[in-house]
Amino acid sequence: MKYKTRLRSRISNLKDQKNPDLRRNVLCGNISPDRIASMTAEEMASAELKEIRKALTKESIREHQLSKVGGTETDMFVCGKCKGKNCTYTQVQTRSADEPMTTFVLCNECGNRWKREQSANSHNSE
Ligand SMILES: [Zn+2]
Repeated sequence: MKYKTRLRSRISNLKDQKNPDLRRNVLCGNISPDRIASMTAEEMASAELKEIRKALTKESIREHQLSKVGGTETDMFVCGKCKGKNCTYTQVQTRSADEPMTTFVLCNECGNRWKREQSANSHNSE
């Protein structure tokens, strides 16, 4: 009974329109039927789904880091929406270490969020 259920899930995975890679790999013999039987649901997920999942994980890690840092309260920024100066900013090194920092600003009055790329030279590029 259990084996039957498992087999059905394999078949539905093979028929999945969103997962053409798996079916193609099986048809081309890249993945043997034995291999299919031992594959986990995770392994069978399409490449596209894997990418989405990876991106989501990255995004949530970043959100977590930002919220963890908390930010510094400042009045150096003016909110574009409510013109309030009660803001919190967080500086993040988004790319490599020699890239300028990105400053994420959060307006504490209306919740407006925006970011500022800090330019290496002092002239205002915006
Ligand atoms: Zn605001």
